[in-house]
Amino acid sequence: MQIDRPTIDAWLHRNNYSEYAFRGVLFDMDGVLFDSMPFHARSWHEAFAGFGIAFSEYQVYLQEGSTGSQTVNDVFMAQKGRYATDEEINALYERKCDLFQQYAQTVPMAGAHEVLEAVRQAGLKIGLVTGSGQKSLIGKLNQYYPGIFDPNNMVTAFDVQHSKPHPEPYLKGMVKLGIRPEETIVVENAPMGVRAAVAAGALTIGVNTGILKREDLALAGADIVLDNMRQVEALLGN
Ligand code: MG
Repeated sequence: MQIDRPTIDAWLHRNNYSEYAFRGVLFDMDGVLFDSMPFHARSWHEAFAGFGIAFSEYQVYLQEGSTGSQTVNDVFMAQKGRYATDEEINALYERKCDLFQQYAQTVPMAGAHEVLEAVRQAGLKIGLVTGSGQKSLIGKLNQYYPGIFDPNNMVTAFDVQHSKPHPEPYLKGMVKLGIRPEETIVVENAPMGVRAAVAAGALTIGVNTGILKREDLALAGADIVLDNMRQVEALLGN
């Protein structure tokens, strides 16, 4: 692994760990394994626009990891100074889902296959931690990355009480892999996902595959910020 010593030392110090010995890598799904964020961003942006509310694609990326109702409520609070009604939440989220159905295609993230192979060859365990509850996308993991993901090593929306940025999803992922936080590396693309992984105590790689600024991931606490999965492969290979 090509992670430099100062980065490791800073991470050890921050978490009060004595020494590292990585045994597994937990991967986020949207924006890491599949290039699905552009479709989410366009769908949310257009759904809100239909209700006369400005919500940029950049804001969608910042919001990644929130539930649909959380997203609607956050936008209403910021722009109207009140929570959305249940009817507003349902109408907006339904519209977003309709648009997403219309636009979404399954696009594997460039370089993701190579990262997974490199991690497997390095002898590290592999797990998935996603806030997604889309059964179709999860099923496609095996189609695009055959033989990599064991269903017993996956944490989805159905497995947790609290979504990211709460640490629960990543802590559950560690339990599923049978490894401790100080033995875990996380690969995440979203600020809230980064915060969840950092709170869970993992060495957190923020990979900026979308339209965010690098600072968005650094400020969320990422130990390392990279620009694409090729760089993750270079970091985790060998
Ligand atoms: Mg993501």
